[in-house]
Parts: sequence; structure tokens; C-alpha cells
Amino acid sequence: EHALRYLKAHLRNVPDFPKPGILFKDITPLLADPRALHITLDLLAQRFVGEHVDVVVGVESRGFIFGGALSARLNAGFVPVRKPGKLPAATDRVAYALEYGTAELEMHKGSIRPGARVLIVDDLLATGGTASAAAELARKQGGEVAGFAFVVELDFLGGRALLAERAGDAAPVFSIVHFA
Ligand code: 5GP
Repeated sequence: EHALRYLKAHLRNVPDFPKPGILFKDITPLLADPRALHITLDLLAQRFVGEHVDVVVGVESRGFIFGGALSARLNAGFVPVRKPGKLPAATDRVAYALEYGTAELEMHKGSIRPGARVLIVDDLLATGGTASAAAELARKQGGEVAGFAFVVELDFLGGRALLAERAGDAAPVFSIVHFA
């Protein structure tokens, strides 16, 4: 429909970033456009309002932008997940597989009250490794993953299947814009 076309028109393809052969979806034109940003936040909030979200977990760094704004709309808290060494206090850490090698993510210990319902937010779902690691951190602290929210999903990379497989439950995965 019209809104989706408008959002797609505010995503920019950047070839060979961050390495040769990768076509990067740049969301900064969407951020810079007031209407595109408003539509994006409306659609994310509409999907999860009433789903009893206590805490939004946003993944560094673009997940902070959407996650932060969404947490305010849902009257939820916001908890950052960051790359190692960035958070000042004691952290929990998980490692996850990349195409080549591994990466790690951290969350401050005690960020999530046991039983809290957590929404994992990032700008884009690709293979699902990042979001899955964020969910693992939330669950490690006793959180219940209420869902996953993304602006963009690259369907052909199978991230949705990875999240379902790891979750072992039916946490809904919602993305606004899909690329097949
Ligand atoms: P995944 O772990 O699902 O393979 O990759 C998703 C993570 O990498 C997200 O944190 C996302 O921000 C980043 N990412 C991977 N590819 C792209 C891309 O084409 N565009 C943007 N904006 N982020 C990407």
C-alpha cells in the first residue's frame, strides 16, 4: 500500500558496504524524513500496543533509535544491548556466530526484572544472529520475549526461522518492509 511504498522510497541501497559484494540498506533517509519516521513508529507501535510490553531492548546502534522512540510510545522501559566494553557497569555477555567468526553483545546485569515482557527491536533483520543474541540476554535475566520488531527484513536470509528455532516459543516477529 501507499505507506509501505513511501517507506521503501526512503531506504537507500549502498553497494559494497561494509564490504565488497554487500548491498547495504541505509535507513538514514527514512530517519531524516518526518513523515517516514512517524509512519514507521506508528506501525511498530500499533503492532505491539496492548501486548503488555514492559521493556524494549534495543540493539546498538540503530536499534537505539527505533527502540528508544518505540519504548516511549508503548510506555515501556528501554534497555540497551551493546558491543563489548561500552556499558559501564557489570554485564552479562553472549557470543553469536557471524558469517566469518563470532561477535559478542552485552547487557547490564539486573536490567530486566524476572518475568518482564520484553520486545526486541532493531532496524533490520538479516540472518537473525543479532536479534537472537539480544533475546538470549533478555531470557538469561528471566525476561519473557514478547516479540521482535524490525523496520526492514531481508526475507531471503532466513532470520525469522532462526528466531523461531531459538525461541522454542511463538514470540511474534514483525517487520514493516520486506525484501524477498
Ligand atoms: P543479522 O544478525 O540479522 O544477520 O544482522 C542484523 C544486524 O546487522 C542488525 O543489527 C542490523 O542493524 C545490521 N545490518 C545487517 N545488514 C544491514 C543492512 O543492510 N542495513 C542495515 N541498516 N543494517 C544491517
